[in-house]
Amino acid sequence: MRDCIFCKIVNKQIPSKIIYEDEIAVAFEDVNPQAPVHALIIPKKHIPTLADFSEEDYGIIPHIFKIANRIAKEKGIAERGYRIVNNCNAESGQTVFHIHFHLLGGRQMHWPPG
Ligand code: AMP
Repeated sequence: MRDCIFCKIVNKQIPSKIIYEDEIAVAFEDVNPQAPVHALIIPKKHIPTLADFSEEDYGIIPHIFKIANRIAKEKGIAERGYRIVNNCNAESGQTVFHIHFHLLGGRQMHWPPG
């Protein structure tokens, strides 16, 4: 999608710190990290939110989780603990409308989230 900032990252039209890429997904460092490890994992396909998934899109989810676990192991936080977050639509705090999963770790997390 032309005006989508994450599509621009997928298409290498703007710079990003990509840490993983395959034919389905890309993971890159969040530009405003909320934890020592803060990566965003996104499908290359432009889907605005989880609520916009069609039946054929659900296969993306296990793929994303597999990438998250791989990155967590590479970053040394798999045993300590990490959190995966998806914000869906305005009340959740979603600001970029290309679905993404936050991988956060490297510090003590709190519950409930704000
Ligand atoms: P959300 O609030 O769940 O939509 O999260 C959007 C995330 O995207 C925020 O954590 C931002 O810091 C991050 N973000 C926005 N633009 C960029 C960018 N160009 N490169 C990396 N991360 C970004």
